[in-house]
Amino acid sequence: MGKVRIRLEGISKSYYAKTAVTQALRKINLTFQMGEFVAITGESGSGKSTLLNIIGGMDTFDEGEMYVDDQPTFQYDDKDWEEYRRYKIGYVFQDYSLIGHYSVLDNIKSGLLVMGENEENAERISAHYLKLVGLEGYELHKATELSSGQKQRLSIARALAKNTGIIVADEPTGNLDSETGEQIIALLKELSKERLVIMVTHNYEQAAAYVTRKIRIHDGEVVVDVPVNEGEETQGKLAEDSPAHKSITPDGAIEAAGAETTGRSLKPLKTAWFFAKKNAFTQLGRASLFIIFLTIIAVASFLLLGELFLYEDDIVTKLYSNKAFYQECDTRLVVKKADGTSLTEEDYEKLRDVSNVLVVDSCDYANDINYYIEEDVDFEYLYSFNWHDREEKKTIKFLSDTKFMRSADCITEEDLAYGRLPEAGNEVVLYAEDDSLLGRTRQCYFKANNIWDDGEYYDADLKIVGILKEETEQIYFTTEFCEMLSMHIDSGVYRICYDYNYEKMDYNQMPELVPVIADDLTGNQVRVSSSIESAVSGEVLFRFQGYDENGELIEEYIEETVEVQKNTTSHSKDFLEVSREFYEKYYSAGHEQASVYITSYAKTDEVMGALKRMGYDALSTIRVSSADYDEKLVYDRLKVMAICFGGLLALIMAEVLILRSLMKIRMKDYFVLKFIGMEMKMIRKISYLEIGVYCLVALILTIALMWGLRLAGIPIIAEMMWYYEARGYLIFVVYNLSLSAVTVAAFNRLLKGRLNA
Ligand code: ADP
Ligand code: MG
Repeated sequence: MGKVRIRLEGISKSYYAKTAVTQALRKINLTFQMGEFVAITGESGSGKSTLLNIIGGMDTFDEGEMYVDDQPTFQYDDKDWEEYRRYKIGYVFQDYSLIGHYSVLDNIKSGLLVMGENEENAERISAHYLKLVGLEGYELHKATELSSGQKQRLSIARALAKNTGIIVADEPTGNLDSETGEQIIALLKELSKERLVIMVTHNYEQAAAYVTRKIRIHDGEVVVDVPVNEGEETQGKLAEDSPAHKSITPDGAIEAAGAETTGRSLKPLKTAWFFAKKNAFTQLGRASLFIIFLTIIAVASFLLLGELFLYEDDIVTKLYSNKAFYQECDTRLVVKKADGTSLTEEDYEKLRDVSNVLVVDSCDYANDINYYIEEDVDFEYLYSFNWHDREEKKTIKFLSDTKFMRSADCITEEDLAYGRLPEAGNEVVLYAEDDSLLGRTRQCYFKANNIWDDGEYYDADLKIVGILKEETEQIYFTTEFCEMLSMHIDSGVYRICYDYNYEKMDYNQMPELVPVIADDLTGNQVRVSSSIESAVSGEVLFRFQGYDENGELIEEYIEETVEVQKNTTSHSKDFLEVSREFYEKYYSAGHEQASVYITSYAKTDEVMGALKRMGYDALSTIRVSSADYDEKLVYDRLKVMAICFGGLLALIMAEVLILRSLMKIRMKDYFVLKFIGMEMKMIRKISYLEIGVYCLVALILTIALMWGLRLAGIPIIAEMMWYYEARGYLIFVVYNLSLSAVTVAAFNRLLKGRLNA
């Protein structure tokens, strides 16, 4: 007799259902040896499958002991049972236990890969056994597409391909026609000569001529256990030409049974990757379901994180005060040279080249001057009749303070659709649909809130010399015009003395005048508003008083005799219209600071840092103008951040709950893989890999989608994406990957519970 492989001692097994306890096996004592071909019979429900499951290491028992190769199994842990199933048992399942969405070939291959076989060998061995069971040509069919008989043959081929020393088969011929059934039994008979084959059968007659032993079970007890066909030579010679009992080794040689070693080199990641890939590609519908779900989570988390990044800076909680910079703009920096010297053309070029800098305007002050255009309904005239003077009085009502001057520094020829860049005086460019406005004029009012007194304004007719390509409300003025209007009192004090007789009077009592160019004046001609009542026409004294580098008033005056005209249609009272010639004599172009506009407030620190390294001083106009906290904004900010955090937490719950349930569709497959001997560790790896890949795809889709929306100009997306720097994307990716990892871990815990139940 052969070596004892399996010995059962007093094995009992009960199933506990809610309402009843079924004792499936009662104190079974059986010994199985190498070379045996055992047929187990008995009516349905007698415990045959239970016995086979225990022998196959698929199920546990309540009492007694099972010895494998004379070793008791009481100390076996999960891993030992895994190894037992993997290396010692080839199992033909009553219900086939195939992975339906895998191809026929992949089903067989699975068993071999689980044993650590490499893919190439697995494929060769599989092909051999497929041929053996007559499934040649069906390699690429899905297992679900097979008939019951074909499924049974596939299940048999998978068990045989493992080339294990013990084969257990639960009604392997139940669904086969009698001819095929008999072939299979003959095959098992051949195999049993070097193995132990235990087969449950319904149809003992079919097997009677082949088996060496017959066991009959009734109600969980062995009632018959007899050797049969004893006269025959059980250890008979094998037919040389039949490869059925042999397996093909990696190098193509035929090898006898007994791959019962753990010596094969396992490449766990490669194997896990094979199964993860199969899962993804054989069920594209399910794979897309996973990806769609993960993409929804990723998009939601992208938006929530973006909003968090946006609200990270507490500038959002501060009140803007227009005392320092009249224009409220969060992308404007004011830049000076650290050494205090004037900015040059070269500096402007360097500034424009800084990353995230959009435009540079050398006329910084003008960027805080409002302009108003009648066509844009920026102002309206108010008329009143003055009974005293018996004339109609016209006053201006400005309607909005949203438009601020910019010089043509900010544009180039390329921005123009028609015409040319403004060069001198009142020339401007603006946007229009066509060139019909070229050469026309526009009446425009200006208000330099930080420089002039309240109520003072300047008006000018602007000549349109160019039309911009891109639609914008912004009008671009000449540098000269911008500099003129932003002529700050810092540049000097302009006063005229109206009467020689007033020589002794304090000049400081005279109004400070803002010099503006009037092209119709020449030489020392000047013009003041007729509303300055004390002003007289004729030759009067003009005084100019400048400032030194520290901003201190220089004591000396420059005095000059000017010819004063009075103007009845002046802008407002404190301007002094002068000839260009006169203007240039006293005007000193101070280019100490420039306005630099950046792509987004998010880049403020980055750009300021870069400027500092280049030797410039920069300040953010919104920051210096925002000092005080607004209680309501502080509250709003906290609310938004709390909502974002809450949302991110809710996403964790949603993902863990929903994705984990989605993953249950894999449960059945994992049962099969467990039965054919896959380690729990490997199963865990497969789920991590599969979901990991879906997650990466979802992340790529999300980022692509967001960039698409950003480029399409969706403002809320574009705004938050400025805050997505390397750190932002890293947080986004890490958040989503760990979310998936947590979910897979939760699923794996569930899986372990189910698989070991
Ligand atoms: P057989 O294979 O001989 O038809 P089984 O071994 O499948 O019989 O079942 C033996 C007994 O145990 C039956 O009464 C069956 O109802 C019961 N049984 C089998 N599996 C379970 C289970 N998972 N839960 C509860 N009862 C079970
Ligand atoms: Mg059964």
